[in-house]
Amino acid sequence: MPQPSFLPEASRASLDDVLAEELAAIDARGLRRRFRRIESAQGPLVRMDGREVVLLCSNNYLGLAGHPAVVAAAAAATNAGGAGAVSSRLISGHMDAHARLEERIARWKGTEAALVFSTGYQANIGVIAALLGDGDVVVSDELNHASIIDGCRLSRARVAIYRHCDVEDLRRVLAQHAGARRVLVVTESVFSMDGDIAPLHQIAAATAEHDAWLMVDEAHGAGIFGGGGAGVVAQLGLTDRVDVQMGTLGKALGSFGASVAGSRRLIDHLINRARSFIFTTGLPPACAAAAEAALDIIEAEPQRASGVLDRARKLGLRLRSAGLDVPHVGSQILPIVIGDAARTVEVAEALLTRGFYVAAIRPPTVPPGTSRLRLSLMATHTAEQIAAAEGALVEVLAEGTR
Ligand code: PMP
Repeated sequence: MPQPSFLPEASRASLDDVLAEELAAIDARGLRRRFRRIESAQGPLVRMDGREVVLLCSNNYLGLAGHPAVVAAAAAATNAGGAGAVSSRLISGHMDAHARLEERIARWKGTEAALVFSTGYQANIGVIAALLGDGDVVVSDELNHASIIDGCRLSRARVAIYRHCDVEDLRRVLAQHAGARRVLVVTESVFSMDGDIAPLHQIAAATAEHDAWLMVDEAHGAGIFGGGGAGVVAQLGLTDRVDVQMGTLGKALGSFGASVAGSRRLIDHLINRARSFIFTTGLPPACAAAAEAALDIIEAEPQRASGVLDRARKLGLRLRSAGLDVPHVGSQILPIVIGDAARTVEVAEALLTRGFYVAAIRPPTVPPGTSRLRLSLMATHTAEQIAAAEGALVEVLAEGTR
């Protein structure tokens, strides 16, 4: 008798049973993720569970998500262009707001061209998979964002990881793959969960020595660093040495979406080959217009970025001298490393009780054993809010909550 090529129905667990088991395993490791509902606009103060708390973990670094000019630009674009682009950009979804924003971003970044993607996640997976394939190599910092990791996997290129921000290790990895057809080095400029800044000068030099290409994710650098907030690449004068600059519109710019800036040929290639650009609906015009209005403010008011950087640095140094583990003080992002995931959640809960919302960041977002609070300041926090947050952090972390 031929053997059945499937299991008898009775021996297969139901989806519900499998999921119950997997969720229980996530719970047991203290890694269950849950929503925290925000009942107000995104500002330095938000309402949660009916009360106001100081928001200390948003990417709204410059406070632009609620800026009247940004909100008005989004409303005007919606009134003029409708709520959505309702088609792929390559069908009927390419609108004035996209074209204007792309020209503006290219000027801002000092590149020949730019292309707007619907999210940063899509930009990273789309670009990496469009540039590399079987037989190529992508060389990636070990702490790169999940969207870069997924782009590496999707590309089918060989993935070679170098130690975080370690240029000697990058050189070693590049030398190992000297024979590969195409090699792309990818790094973040400001690392999302650590707030440290990649040594881009040395990375660019190592990349050039090996005739590799360089892609920099400026998700957390754009709007904050460099003249006019153009990013770390621009600040360091590396525009001509970085082949691909990715940036997001949903962080310092207070909107939603992402951009890739580079040569005209790069952009033309992405329009033809980046599947996450081609096969998705274009960004709503409101998001594009809001991002453009945000760029006006960023260029006109550099004190927003310099102010938030200055206050973050001072706060980081004070927290460090109070004995907290703040490994990096150099950007608007301050990691406070706690280690154990469950303990990190406990600390975050204790802070929330005191009126401060800082999310607990746990694996797989960060490596096991490095769970942390990821504190991020906004240009619109008051000095009093920051001082009160500092007091609460020191109290909760120094005293312990057990
Ligand atoms: N890259 C980095 C470094 C990020 O931190 C993020 C968002 N957390 C992204 C890419 C993805 O951007 P988006 O949220 O627009 O998808």
